[in-house]
Parts: sequence; C-alpha cells; structure tokens
Amino acid sequence: DSEYRVVVFGAGRVGKSSLVLRFLKDTFCESYVPTVEDFYCQNVEFVSYTLDGQLILCNKNSVCNLQIVDTAGSYSFPAMQRLNIAKGRAFIMVYSVTSRQTLEQLESTWQTIREIKGSLDNVPLMLVGNKCDEMEARELTVEEGKEQARHWSSSFIETSAKANYNVKKLFRMLLACLLAMVIAN
Ligand code: GDP
Ligand code: MG
Repeated sequence: DSEYRVVVFGAGRVGKSSLVLRFLKDTFCESYVPTVEDFYCQNVEFVSYTLDGQLILCNKNSVCNLQIVDTAGSYSFPAMQRLNIAKGRAFIMVYSVTSRQTLEQLESTWQTIREIKGSLDNVPLMLVGNKCDEMEARELTVEEGKEQARHWSSSFIETSAKANYNVKKLFRMLLACLLAMVIAN
C-alpha cells in the first residue's frame, strides 16, 4: 500500500538525505555520504494539521504509514525515476539556496512528474530551498524560490537541515496536503 509514499528528488548534495534524517531521527551529519536509494517507513500519528488556515480533523487513534523514498538525485537510470514517480503520491523537490543550478536541474524532474501523473491537481508538490543557514553563499533569494514554485504550482518553503529550521513544518505541510487528498478521494 503506497497511499502515503513521499519521494524526495533533487541534485546531489542539496541535502535530501539530511532533511529526511533530521525529520525521522533528529540527527545531522556534516560529512557527505552519497545515497543510492533509501527507503524509510514510519508510522505517523494522525493529528490535526493546518493547511492554508484549513483545519483537517483526523481520528486521533489512527496512524498512517508514511513511506519516504530518498533518491540518489542524479539518475543514470531514468526508468528508476519514472518508477518512483509512478509509485509516489507526494513529491519533495529540493534545491540548495547556494546553487542556482540545483534549482534549474529540478525542471526536468517536474516535467516528468507532470507527464507521468497527467495532472498535478491531486499531487502534493513541495519545492524546498535547503541550506538557508548559509547566508554568505546564498545564490537565490526567497522570492526567486517562491516565483519558481508559483510557476510549478507547488508549495514552497526554505529549510535548513543543519540548523533544524522548518524541517518539521515541511513534512507537516506535505502530510496535510496528502491527508486532505486521501480524505477527499
Ligand atoms: P543529498 O545528496 O541531497 O542527499 O545531500 P546530503 O543530505 O547528503 O548533504 C550533502 C552535504 O550538505 C552534507 O555535507 C551535509 O552535511 C550538507 N548539508 C545538508 N543540509 C544542510 C543544510 O541545511 N545546511 C548546510 N550548511 N549544510 C547542509
Ligand atoms: Mg542523499
């Protein structure tokens, strides 16, 4: 059952694994360990999440089985990306605010998601500008991230896995969208 499967995309080194590990285990590692592909499964309690001021009420006693696919980032096998998109219900597209190129590299991922899902109307999408703690090295403003998100019909948030800034909020926002869609359908 892949009802709550979230797939994390983005170029290498933008902080995909760091965001997932910060959220699931509240850890952070300074050294870089390239990911092949990691799959996490965790029961998350159904609580009330607010989404654009809207309150979604869920049964307190139930849990959902959240699945997170942490991808390698660069795809030498496009078939693998396509399979992840086909099986995924929600998508996190991560770039680093210190590299304009990593935002541009998400364009083809977004195109592929749109192509495979047909319409993005029922697909929770989150554009994430990570490493916002890196003030000096910043190449992209918050406005540029928001603008791109508008263009891609996705939500937007800036995060820092290192400083533990907005990481919980990112996953809560995405879960809220996902729950709203599961409830509506
Ligand atoms: P991935 O390839 O996208 O999975 O990236 P990783 O999570 O492996 O992180 C790549 C490198 O960036 C590692 O050295 C991390 O310590 C570092 N990193 C990840 N998130 C942040 C962040 O929010 N701020 C800073 N300054 N560094 C980060
Ligand atoms: Mg990784």
